[in-house]
Amino acid sequence: MVRNLSFSYSKMGMYKECPQKYKFRYVHMLPEQPKYYFAFGTALHEVMEYIYNPENPAFPSLPEALAFFDNHWNKTSFEQKGYASVEKELAGYAEGRRIIEAYYAKNAESFFHPLSVEMKSTLDIDGLSLISILDRIDYLGGGKVKILDYKTGKTVQREPDQLYMYQKVVENSPAIKSLVQQKDPGVKELRVEQLSFYHLPTLHEMTFERAPDKEIFDFWQGVLNVADNIRAGKFDPTPGENQCRWCDYRNICPVFTGKEYNGPTGYAARGASFPPAATPDPQPKTVQDELSDKIDRCGALLDEAKQLQKEIIALMREQNFERHFGKNYKAELSRIEKLEFTDKNKVVELLRTLNLLSKTLVPTYSTVAGLLTDASVPEEAKARLQAFTVKAQDVKLNLEKTQ
Ligand code: SF4
Repeated sequence: MVRNLSFSYSKMGMYKECPQKYKFRYVHMLPEQPKYYFAFGTALHEVMEYIYNPENPAFPSLPEALAFFDNHWNKTSFEQKGYASVEKELAGYAEGRRIIEAYYAKNAESFFHPLSVEMKSTLDIDGLSLISILDRIDYLGGGKVKILDYKTGKTVQREPDQLYMYQKVVENSPAIKSLVQQKDPGVKELRVEQLSFYHLPTLHEMTFERAPDKEIFDFWQGVLNVADNIRAGKFDPTPGENQCRWCDYRNICPVFTGKEYNGPTGYAARGASFPPAATPDPQPKTVQDELSDKIDRCGALLDEAKQLQKEIIALMREQNFERHFGKNYKAELSRIEKLEFTDKNKVVELLRTLNLLSKTLVPTYSTVAGLLTDASVPEEAKARLQAFTVKAQDVKLNLEKTQ
């Protein structure tokens, strides 16, 4: 008996992005690096599941939801989540709490129990074992349901393939039909009435009507074609600037190494069937690319400005200057007292232990200095924090335009 091919919307997305990447991930089973945006999205999905769990008669309060989020978040380190630094992880943590607080302010009055949350559905159909995780299904009555998918990225847009996949899965799933029939025993047919993307960072919901049967049919033929190509071992790379730039398999990809990867035992000489090694085709720039370029350029200018400031301070101190003039700007040095951490990671750990992390959001020297003078912080906690800080003199550069 031929086994069904295990398949999902994300697997299909990866194959369409680049069949070679799919091969690395799902044939060679090479895991990708952890990505901070997946960790962030998972944490918020868990909170939504916690809020709406149909098995809990009462909805959690905001402090309970925040505590649940903290607990989930603190189970892994910043590296395990895929953040580049503790600071970036803390910024993600602060953003997660902000989103939960805003979500409660907007929706807590209208919480209700949906049909299901985070339902893992496996549908065996047309030689595929189709695995989907459905964030939330609401029952609208009369056999009609609404499917809601939470989005946590920077932007949200209509993704027809995902909508089609959900409609196909839900309308053919005996498990979901049986859930509806438990609620409404007279239902014979299940129909997806609405599909919705809920963008948590902006609390904005985009709702779509069900897709016509013809569109679903055409989409499904596309899915079956992808599945046929996978079964036939068609994994030719389709390089492109966007997908290759962020691809974890670049250093073993035949496009870049000129050799075919043959598993952990080594490389084989590249077969004639591969296209010649080439620099990825430049793709037209998207708005996201343009934004990324501007962010990088702006960051580079800020880095350069910081470096110049350091050099100006060093030269002025060397010459014993308190003030100096350029053609258009005046530079002046002032002395300030500042706090320094003897071990920043230990400060973060201590704030966590003392339950003070949410008071600081991001533990900069000034926020920790604020805690040391905060009347609501116990003296013992202050003493423990103080043990990781030292006072130091610093010089600040002030630049002022003179003309
Ligand atoms: S580096 Fe590019 S061509 Fe190679 S697997 Fe990744 S996405 Fe595909």
